[in-house]
Amino acid sequence: MKIAFLGLGNMGLPMAENLVAAGHEVTGFDPARPAASFPLAASGAAAADGAEVMITMLPSGEVLRAVAAEVVPKMTRGAILLDCSTVDVDSARAVAENAHEAGLLALDAPVSGGIGGAKGGTLTFMVGGDAAAFDTARPLFDVMGQKAVHCGPSGNGQAAKICNNMILGATMIVTCEAFALADRLGLDRQAMFDVVSTSSGSSWSMTAYCPAPGIGPDSPADNGYRPGFAAELMLKDLRLAAAAAESAGVRTPLGRAALEQYRDFVENEDGRGRDFSAMLPRFADG
Ligand code: NAD
Repeated sequence: MKIAFLGLGNMGLPMAENLVAAGHEVTGFDPARPAASFPLAASGAAAADGAEVMITMLPSGEVLRAVAAEVVPKMTRGAILLDCSTVDVDSARAVAENAHEAGLLALDAPVSGGIGGAKGGTLTFMVGGDAAAFDTARPLFDVMGQKAVHCGPSGNGQAAKICNNMILGATMIVTCEAFALADRLGLDRQAMFDVVSTSSGSSWSMTAYCPAPGIGPDSPADNGYRPGFAAELMLKDLRLAAAAAESAGVRTPLGRAALEQYRDFVENEDGRGRDFSAMLPRFADG
């Protein structure tokens, strides 16, 4: 397919490289002008010219709205605007509406799997938007990832992402708290892992991404808490979840408590640039 790819940062560049390696014709644009193995255009609008699919991997909803305003009028009718960024549900829905008005199809398809998943082509895509566009884009999801779930109409991919990450943020914090408590009670961390990982307190945070070094499978804890999934990205997602909860009128007290914890960790402590599981030394050593 002829693909335009806008936003060639930590995630976007390896995703685009995987599409090139699979034989797709990719033209990129990023104001930071990274070194890439495929042609870069002078602007987003220039990259959009003749593209069947425009993929965006951008930092925020605000940037996405600005980019969409620039590229949508340049895109060919029937082409697909495929946003893989993590943004607020309202921006995802507004951009999809603009695209529809211009005769385009739109998908919001945020990812989980991080930089490792982007490089390895093993991301999971949570996708909202037109079912026909989802079918057309499936071969691209298959190259960039290992799973794509169609979650319903526009915005539902973002909704799935922030609900998942609200669970993840709160679960990671309480898993770290429990390890710190176990330490003080004289319970060995390995014994704690052996019990919890096969008991009702089990979670992905414990079994697949254990925050205690030397315990469970290899994780950022075994690597000096180098991300992985950075604490500031978790903070971003918890902010999006809180904003969505507020606009939908839903009470999410634990999601908000997790937001406060990550805000302190990133803004007032040493959390910036560390993995989100580095909450463990914060509780254990504090
Ligand atoms: P990044 O900051 O490394 O990359 C964003 C890129 O967008 C930058 O290179 C920037 O120059 C570019 N950009 C800014 N304005 C632009 C414009 N007008 N046109 C084209 N490009 C523009 O961020 P990232 O880590 O690659 O994350 C991208 C998105 O993926 C974010 O929404 C993030 O929340 C989400 N995400 C990241 C991870 C992760 O582990 N890094 C995991 C899941 C989801």
